Amino acid sequence: MLPPDLLDALVAIVGEPNVRIDEASLVTYGTDALKRGHPAEAVVLPADTSQVAKVVAQCAEHRVPFVPRGAGTGYTGGAVPLHGGVVISLERMNRILEIDEANLLAVVEPNVITGDLQTAVEAVGLFYPPDPASLHMSTIGGNVAECAGGPRAFKYGTTKQYVLGLEAVLPTGEVIETGGKVVKNVVGYDLTHLLVGSEGTLAVITKIILRLVPKPPVQATLRASFKSVEDAVAAVSEVIRRRVVPATLELIDGESLEAVAKNLGVRSLAPPGTAAILLLDVDGSAQAVAEDADRVEAACVAVGAIEVLRAKHEAERAELWRVRRELSLSLKMVTPLKFNHDVVVPKGRIPELFALVSRIRDAYRLRIPLFGHAGDGNIHVNIMVMPDDAEEIERAHEAEKVLFEGVVALEGSISGEHGIGFSKAPFLPIELSPDEISLMKRVKLAFDPHNLLNPGKMFPE
Ligand SMILES: Cc1cc2nc3c(=O)[nH]c(=O)nc-3n(C[C@H](O)[C@H](O)[C@H](O)COP(=O)(O)OP(=O)(O)OC[C@H]3O[C@@H](n4cnc5c(N)ncnc54)[C@H](O)[C@@H]3O)c2cc1C
Repeated sequence: MLPPDLLDALVAIVGEPNVRIDEASLVTYGTDALKRGHPAEAVVLPADTSQVAKVVAQCAEHRVPFVPRGAGTGYTGGAVPLHGGVVISLERMNRILEIDEANLLAVVEPNVITGDLQTAVEAVGLFYPPDPASLHMSTIGGNVAECAGGPRAFKYGTTKQYVLGLEAVLPTGEVIETGGKVVKNVVGYDLTHLLVGSEGTLAVITKIILRLVPKPPVQATLRASFKSVEDAVAAVSEVIRRRVVPATLELIDGESLEAVAKNLGVRSLAPPGTAAILLLDVDGSAQAVAEDADRVEAACVAVGAIEVLRAKHEAERAELWRVRRELSLSLKMVTPLKFNHDVVVPKGRIPELFALVSRIRDAYRLRIPLFGHAGDGNIHVNIMVMPDDAEEIERAHEAEKVLFEGVVALEGSISGEHGIGFSKAPFLPIELSPDEISLMKRVKLAFDPHNLLNPGKMFPE
């Protein structure tokens, strides 16, 4: 139970309708896409930065933990109030404050939905490239906190490449501004990029200045089918060797394709003998796109593609992408629970990652379909389990550890997109040394001396 005078203070700051203590809200705001939640003790919906600062100051004074929350689509439990306390939902702070066409930037409040920002800037011929698959649900604040990425990362980078400046409330209640509207700024430590990817453990982000780029006028989509993952990865190298940087370069394995086919009620989605497909987008001027598409096709054929399809119009593009869009849902239809790991390896080592997963599949008797962003080596390893099979879940957890150790041995990382939260915190020492973890803990302490902001995340407890 929260101290009654804290509740009174919260109501005085944001108004009674914006403090929720009913059971349904406490449970709903206590979970995210990981689906392993812990109820909040109160949910507070501030309207602006000054209210956020006052809420934070009150929580700090009462030594009550607090957790910032965007849309709750995180996959690692980042927005879960693991130690109870107050969830600060930024959902009322959802305005696009400025689209500055002259300076190619946008200023937004944290809970603008990513897809809404993309639509707004594209209406004036600009482009915000980061495109997590959750873009129609997740928020820019959550994307910044997680440094979200997506299929376009290989060509355009991830969220961090687009954050120029931030306004944020420190866990002690002060408001700071980092970076700004300029592209060049080398004054002091780069606090902006310390906060990007800090998973809501260092500050509550209340305003974001984002870099935009001109919208590429033309896009083309190709789909190439291969008889092995090795061939598909060889095609990726060959495409790059021919000096094409595709806007997206997605790899989907045979098991994932089968799941989509089953879900769509078709016999097969690719020619017989297909073990992997690549979905590629190229973008730019009409002439560049036509030339790049030719080079991509030639590269795929050169390494032995069984088939290369090129969309002739928008409807065909959508059709080629359908298999990727249907993936998540299709896998869930096959097995209701999946442990979705977003590991990343240097792209030349993707075949070794597939071999590692193949060994894990056999050793732990698990279904593990794979798909992901081949251009940047970020592969989603989906360990599929039945929720009521405790023994299978146990095997899956053992397999996770072997996977993470193997990925680090391949010079990779245990998370390319979803962050650590609390679900991956026990695995942090697999990738980071004791000295690195100790330094990060000292950074956390400098921001948050009483460990009140999102406790229980990032570091093993
Ligand atoms: C179907 C689906 C597909 C997905 N695809 C991708 C993908 O392609 N790429 C990818 O990177 N991720 C993906 N994700 C994961 C998730 O969408 C991202 O991590 C996203 O950035 C989370 O945004 P959110 O608004 O939901 O944040 P939340 O889940 O609400 O919060 C995530 C973290 O950010 C912190 N946070 C939120 N807002 C703030 C703020 N204003 N200030 C400080 N901290 C804050 C929270 O405390 C928490 O630690 C996917 C998730 C789903 C469900």
